[in-house]
Amino acid sequence: MLGSDAMELKDVKGIGTKSLALLNKLNIQTVLDLITYYPVRYDILTRSDFDHLDEDMKVIVDGKVESIPLVIRIKTGLNKMNFRLATSDRIFGVSIFNRAFLKQHLGIGTSVIVIGKYDKVKNVITASDIKLGELSTTPKIEPVYHLTSGLTNKNISTYINMAMLQIGKNVVDYIPDYLTEKYNFPSKKMALNIIHNPSSIEKLKEAKIRLKYEELFEFMFKINYLKKENKKANGIKRKILKKDLESIVKILPFKLTNDQKNVLEEIRQDLNSEKRMNRLLQGDVGSGKTVVSIIAMYLNYLSGYQSALMVPTEILANQHFQNITNLLKDLVKVELLTGSTPKKEKTRIYEGLQSGEIGIIVGTHALIQSDVCYKNLGLVVTDEQHRFGVNQRENLKNKGLSPDVLYMSATPIPRTYALTIYGDMDVSVIKELPKGRQEVETILKKTSEIKDVLELMYKELKANHQIYVIAPLIEDNDSNNLTSVNELKNKMNDAFGKKYKIDIVHGKMASASKDEIMTRFSQGEIDILISTTVIEVGIDVKNASQIVIFDANRFGLSTLHQLRGRVGRGTIKSSCILISDQDTKRLEILKTTTDGFKLSEEDFKLRGSGDLFGTKQSGDMTFKIANIREDYKILLQANKDSLEFLNKASLNNLKLRDLLINKVKQG
Ligand code: ADP
Ligand code: MG
Repeated sequence: MLGSDAMELKDVKGIGTKSLALLNKLNIQTVLDLITYYPVRYDILTRSDFDHLDEDMKVIVDGKVESIPLVIRIKTGLNKMNFRLATSDRIFGVSIFNRAFLKQHLGIGTSVIVIGKYDKVKNVITASDIKLGELSTTPKIEPVYHLTSGLTNKNISTYINMAMLQIGKNVVDYIPDYLTEKYNFPSKKMALNIIHNPSSIEKLKEAKIRLKYEELFEFMFKINYLKKENKKANGIKRKILKKDLESIVKILPFKLTNDQKNVLEEIRQDLNSEKRMNRLLQGDVGSGKTVVSIIAMYLNYLSGYQSALMVPTEILANQHFQNITNLLKDLVKVELLTGSTPKKEKTRIYEGLQSGEIGIIVGTHALIQSDVCYKNLGLVVTDEQHRFGVNQRENLKNKGLSPDVLYMSATPIPRTYALTIYGDMDVSVIKELPKGRQEVETILKKTSEIKDVLELMYKELKANHQIYVIAPLIEDNDSNNLTSVNELKNKMNDAFGKKYKIDIVHGKMASASKDEIMTRFSQGEIDILISTTVIEVGIDVKNASQIVIFDANRFGLSTLHQLRGRVGRGTIKSSCILISDQDTKRLEILKTTTDGFKLSEEDFKLRGSGDLFGTKQSGDMTFKIANIREDYKILLQANKDSLEFLNKASLNNLKLRDLLINKVKQG
């Protein structure tokens, strides 16, 4: 987004090696990351009303310094400064620690703003901050950033403003000029300035809309570009007959559901068409999507092409590999390729792919990258929202490949969304669960009922079943009362550690150690697995019969439903225990329905409206400022505009290529 002469983060004045490392910790790697490091919320500074103060509340006052500040050295590195402050109608004592350096600015009569805690008895404000100036009649709006220890809000704000100053006009704006004019948007630079230094709520609103619009415009432009590309008849034509499909279905150990049959017929027609298939297959966990994709890969094999099944983790790759081998072992040569495949083995597999000996390959992202050469890749199946960005498609195209693509997702999305964000795809849905599925019992408990929960857990453990335990956080965090994985580990160890094996897994672990632990869990070597929502994705352990979710109110219904889907995968009667003291009405819905689509619509309805202040982005997708749920109207408009723009634009346009290639979202 910055010009080619873009400066680096370390070139921003004030950022040294130490702060650079801290910024990296916040995932800020580039100047662009920095200036788009948006506030999580805003504090509104407005004069406190001392006639109606709650105990211990933060206060904000402005007034004039009434006495010469007195600095007391308490010990090395700790000093305290006291002075008297006169506001329009009161006099306070003010104390502040370690700001002796401010003394020279605080002559008698100086106007200051004091922010701090008020002690009514002593009539003293212990200030956390003192600023020069007075409060305006309109409230002052202060951005609040997500921090890491060692960096203050002020630091971040300073770095951002310095970076903005240094890059000058060098911020690329992706909104076409005619649209900027049409909507009377502020420039990108100005909008960024306002986001980080808002002067009024109205201005802030405008700036937010402007930045959201740009982000959504960019996103929809890519989607619409892909859609247009897909319309071109450049796919593989096959001649798969209905009876080919029927004969493979016959060898399955079970009868397909009607939904599975219908989807397979759609896929058969897609594969036969000269248009490239780009289909999203949605269905609840356990609804039988994978089986459908395996059959599709087999049909593809019958027509003489290779298939690749791509999944996000090694453990899932293993799992799928087992399933496919079980079904197709005498029919097709299936191989597994992951990061931990030994080198010699890898070479053999590469050869097999190049010669065409291997019909189906299962693995992680590496499957479509770099040195992998296929004889004739005809179908790519990807699990769980691993959408191909434009980059990856170009990648395949450069290898002379244009395979059909089938995406599987267990994340139900309301239809309205799907039309937009998956606008470039055809969508198939499996609603019906295979016969004989046990319904998972959903139980709501309060935190005070933890003893009951432990007893329920003990029952499962005694029966040699395994348990998932979920917490919203990894580590304890003093600023809230949420349960963390580490805290639960101690608790579970106290309760069950003598007899049972307990381990943890979370998103911040290296993926190799994550995989190792998941593998040990799936092999039954761990009895209780405590984790954050990382296990949400696809893992299938039939012996796991219980999932216990702490602070369940912190999760969306869809997420909870996904988590619940981790159990009840086999024949064991399973349960999902939700622990929460709040929000029980919303959570009750989970007891009454197992329809993922219904739940996602409920989520949408319940959390649909957000106000400008105080709502933290709940990461729907990988947007930095937009939120497809809250900004749905902007999304629709951006969709319309980007389509129009695409139809009249020439792709030789550099800015457009940039838009497509540089920052392709895979999310
Ligand atoms: P998904 O990928 O949607 O989570 P899978 O395809 O992995 O679901 O299916 C989950 C389990 O159900 C697998 O063990 C699979 O063999 C089994 N299964 C799939 N379809 C059927 C069916 N029609 N009848 C019975 N069992 C089925
Ligand atoms: Mg699956």
